[in-house]
Amino acid sequence: MEKSYKRFNLVFMLIVALFVTQITFAQDVSSEKKKLNQVNNQIKNVKNKLNKNKKEQKNVSAKIKELDRKIDKAEREITQINNEIAITKKKIDTTKKELEKAERNIDEKNGILNARLRVMYKNGNVGYAEVLLDSESILDFLSNLDMIKKIFQQDMELLAYMKDKREEIDTKKKTLESHKSRMLAMIKNMEVKQKELEISRGEMNRIKQQLQKDSKQLEAQIDELNAYAEKIAEQIRRKQSSGKYTGGKLAWPAPGYKRITSPYGYRIHPILKRKKLHTGIDIAVPKGGKIVAAGDGKVIHANWLGGYGKVVMIDHGGGIVTLYAHNSKLLVKEGQRVKKGQAISRAGSTGMSTGPHLHFEVRKNGKYTDPIPWVK
Ligand SMILES: [Zn+2]
Repeated sequence: MEKSYKRFNLVFMLIVALFVTQITFAQDVSSEKKKLNQVNNQIKNVKNKLNKNKKEQKNVSAKIKELDRKIDKAEREITQINNEIAITKKKIDTTKKELEKAERNIDEKNGILNARLRVMYKNGNVGYAEVLLDSESILDFLSNLDMIKKIFQQDMELLAYMKDKREEIDTKKKTLESHKSRMLAMIKNMEVKQKELEISRGEMNRIKQQLQKDSKQLEAQIDELNAYAEKIAEQIRRKQSSGKYTGGKLAWPAPGYKRITSPYGYRIHPILKRKKLHTGIDIAVPKGGKIVAAGDGKVIHANWLGGYGKVVMIDHGGGIVTLYAHNSKLLVKEGQRVKKGQAISRAGSTGMSTGPHLHFEVRKNGKYTDPIPWVK
């Protein structure tokens, strides 16, 4: 009785322990899953913001282009009008000279006529006395008188004609001047308009720069959130990973390609240019080269993963996870069981990569380890 009671007690305690452990496990993972969901939602939100930002950038760029076009058009028009003003100015100068000449001619003619009139007045309206006194006969006198009248009339007519001509030139000059002042006013307006356009363009450029700055921040935020999500996912995987690792040595993940271009450990990152832990090994594999599972296990990730590009992650049990990054094509699906040596992807250069290669990681309980001892 005593013995069986003890045994019962032990079994009961074991059951309770198992139950508690499982509850603890379930609770832990569910809280992390909840956190992961939140982070994924945050990523979605930020991505939406980024999309909106990119759309706005496109709109603003289109507006800037349109403003540039308008400014160019205004500039061309101003140049054209300026040319016309220059031509008009020349025309005005010419007309001015014509007018001066016409006035001089009129003055001259007036002078001659005035002199004649003075002579006529002095000689008691008989007119042109000197000419008349030179007449040799009465007939001569009459014909001379007639001639003088005619000349005088002609002189008057010529003067009237000259005055008409002067009026005509003056009108022409006034027309040109009003044309010029109209065009000057036009240019003033256009310059004001152009300034306004340039101010708008400046404002648009400022908005665009702000948008670009914002989008960079949003992108950085997405990167950060992705890294955080990956960390949480890793925690979940670690907690869900059960049993002991029994797989032994791992297979070389890129059969036929032996050259390691970058070992595990601290190095200057080829793209980021700062000292960073290289979390795996890089193996030179051409695009399309076959990548295989390093051991038996379950595919826990087969999708794009930030800087890793297209990635396969395999859980081999006991907290051992292998990762194959920068693939061009994935041949397995999440949840699928794979065998050691089974083709899982084709090599490539997706994500943060300078050229086709396989980045291979071996993680133990979520921590990066040097893959070399695992595959040798
Ligand atoms: Zn690498």
